[in-house]
Amino acid sequence: TEEVLRNTEKLVFAGQVAVSIAHEVRNPLTTVKGMLQLANKEVRLRHYDLIMSELERANLMVGEFMILGKPQAAIFKLEDCGEILQEALHLFTIQAKLSEIEITQHLAESATILCDRNQIKQVFLNILKNAMEALLQGGNIHVLLDVHEGYQCVTFTDNGSGMTEEVLRRIGEPFHTTKPDGNGLGIMIVQRIMESHQGKMNIRSEIGCGTSVEIMLPINRNG
Ligand code: ADP
Ligand code: MG
Repeated sequence: TEEVLRNTEKLVFAGQVAVSIAHEVRNPLTTVKGMLQLANKEVRLRHYDLIMSELERANLMVGEFMILGKPQAAIFKLEDCGEILQEALHLFTIQAKLSEIEITQHLAESATILCDRNQIKQVFLNILKNAMEALLQGGNIHVLLDVHEGYQCVTFTDNGSGMTEEVLRRIGEPFHTTKPDGNGLGIMIVQRIMESHQGKMNIRSEIGCGTSVEIMLPINRNG
């Protein structure tokens, strides 16, 4: 009875997630297909960057959902947080260039944290993706990496659309999205990963001004 209900809920949730994946992966694949179908070799070459960036995007989306499916598969190791951050930032360079978005960095202090490398990378990717989506051409994302009271702090500040109080209050609620092609799972995944890492997340946002998302991860003193 109660368990049947719980299982039904899980199935409905899995179904909704499956639809989101299908949707998010199909969009970049359709773009790539269209470009590869272009008759002329030179034209194809000219679109190489965009093709690569779209494939990267599809790959990124699949990674996001893998974490939802297999939360037990985490592998905790001592890692340099700044290195993981660089890897995540690297994945956005082409897209940022194409969207004329500037990403600036201040890497004050990197620390060793005990974490699942892929999951922390996914946290950074989800936050960066939201920042990119909130920005118009010419926008800026500033990334700050530093250490504060035993925590590695990573702050992502964008000068994009910002959020209303209601959106901010509901952030992390599964499937709550303000985007026509959003899935409303990105921040929920970030929250889950932060919980499993004993980390914290703070979000400040002002409509029309921008958003600042701060991630705090406990530093490993033995690292
Ligand atoms: P999705 O991006 O698929 O909508 P998320 O969980 O990543 O799902 O984000 C939920 C909602 O939070 C977004 O739809 C958006 O309204 C808001 N949001 C998140 N990050 C930002 C940001 N940097 N700027 C403005 N709004 C944001
Ligand atoms: Mg998102």
